[in-house]
Amino acid sequence: MKVSRIFLSLILGFAFVTGLWSQSKPAADLIIDNAKVWTVDHTNPTAQAVAVLGDRIIAVGSSADVAALRGPATRLIDAGGKLLLPGFNDAHVHFVSGGRSLDEVQLNDAKSLEEFKRRIEERVRITPKGEWVEGGDWDETKWTPAKLPTKDVIDSFTPDTPVLLSRYDGHMALANSVALRLAGITAKTPDPPGGVIVRDTQGNPTGALKDAAEDLVFKVIPPLSHDQRLRAIRRALAYAASLGVTSVQDMNDENDSFADIRAYGELLQNGELTTRVYVAPAVSDWHEQAKVGIRHAFGNSYLRIGALKGFADGSLGSGTAYFFDPYSDEPDNSGLLGKQMLPLSKMRDWMIQADAADLQICTHAIGDRAISTVLDLYTEVVKANGASDRRFRIEHAQHMAEKDFARFAQLGVIASVQPYQAIDDGRWAEARIGPARASRTYAFRTFLNHGVHLAFGTDWDVAPLNPIWTVYAAVTRATLDGKNPKGWFPEQKLTVAEAVEAYTMGSAYGEFQERVTGSITPGKLADIVILSDDIFSIDPAKIRDVKVLKTIVGGKLVWDTDRKKQYSTAN
Ligand SMILES: [Zn+2]
Repeated sequence: MKVSRIFLSLILGFAFVTGLWSQSKPAADLIIDNAKVWTVDHTNPTAQAVAVLGDRIIAVGSSADVAALRGPATRLIDAGGKLLLPGFNDAHVHFVSGGRSLDEVQLNDAKSLEEFKRRIEERVRITPKGEWVEGGDWDETKWTPAKLPTKDVIDSFTPDTPVLLSRYDGHMALANSVALRLAGITAKTPDPPGGVIVRDTQGNPTGALKDAAEDLVFKVIPPLSHDQRLRAIRRALAYAASLGVTSVQDMNDENDSFADIRAYGELLQNGELTTRVYVAPAVSDWHEQAKVGIRHAFGNSYLRIGALKGFADGSLGSGTAYFFDPYSDEPDNSGLLGKQMLPLSKMRDWMIQADAADLQICTHAIGDRAISTVLDLYTEVVKANGASDRRFRIEHAQHMAEKDFARFAQLGVIASVQPYQAIDDGRWAEARIGPARASRTYAFRTFLNHGVHLAFGTDWDVAPLNPIWTVYAAVTRATLDGKNPKGWFPEQKLTVAEAVEAYTMGSAYGEFQERVTGSITPGKLADIVILSDDIFSIDPAKIRDVKVLKTIVGGKLVWDTDRKKQYSTAN
């Protein structure tokens, strides 16, 4: 199969140079016909059919145009009049922890202590011996009586399995006896500063650990093994395929980013990488990539590195996003710069050197002052290294100062944004920062008006990976609590076309891939989704229920609701 394909491309090349193209037009491997094709290619916005040869799109047009490429071995997909789009490219995910989260026990909607216990028992049964069982989000207020769980509930079926389950608010966790033993927590262990080891009447730990006491257990959980990493990525790949996510940009800012790259590489070699991945390790490690001459978007169409992820501040919810003015509900707090930014001269040095090595810099910045500070740093980088197509990014870019939109555009900074957060945080953000700042929050329309490039993503597993919900969020801005059905700051809504473009071409631009993916254009990679409904014509409120019927990556079907099956890209 591989050999014949190479042979075919040789013939094709020969046909081109000798002008024999018209006489020896090859047959397509795949034709998708009877589709409502929305190409995201402004030179040819709509079509009925798409032809694919190998991993590339070779024709986009009417059924008749494309039918000319049909040969005896061409596979046909009748799209049944459904909407066909370029595959979604999620510009900001945490892919390994996302994959891990799919295997964590989900306890939030457990309605009783018995159900809580049963779900943990099921998870323990399928967990390899010695591995930790984590997850949770349990909420005892949903049970009768609403009593905190203790380790006794789970100890009987976890004699060798360490368990640590978080409460939904993150301020408490339940450990079993194995986990307590590994962490060395006994009746004699004093409460750590800022934490409480909950104890029974005899003074023995019950397993419940509050705040800083949770860290006593967290710190003994070993880093992921290579096998765990592979397993997490495989779960994430299958999930992404089912949602029509054909590319992800992995903000891999943790200590073990290079171990993830190794695991991606192994899956690539096995033909298992069914989502394209661009990895951004921590900016503090910029030298690791620079020293071997890696630049932005280095790699192949499936696996690329050469980006860097940094942090300027924290989050709005935790009150650590960094603002010019204090929080409206907390007059003594304006947030703060993150550790990496202290001192600023250190971050400036990293950025200037990383940029000189042609690495792409992506910086998390949420509060207006954090964003402004990053723009200052980016300005200094340009001053130091001169003009180039460097595509600086600000991740989240949540709360903009009025004066910074123009600067954002002028520096060519990409706003890598997560619209789902707007309908989630939109429930309470105004109470924290007041109406003026809230009007410049997730200001997607204002960004576009200023000519800023938008790249869409989710920050999975902080928010759901489903791109349909992100499109729904950008188009409706209807907060999850149902209180803003006409949209929270509705003047910032985008059209469906703008949202789709930001999620395809916009994200592709954000990773230097706009010439190879992001639209249904001849010559580009055949990354395609077919949706259950036409999101351009249905009531926007119904967009959130739309499903992905088929996902095609590089011409290969990787998700098909008709067959409910996961495929590999190997031949
Ligand atoms: Zn993130």
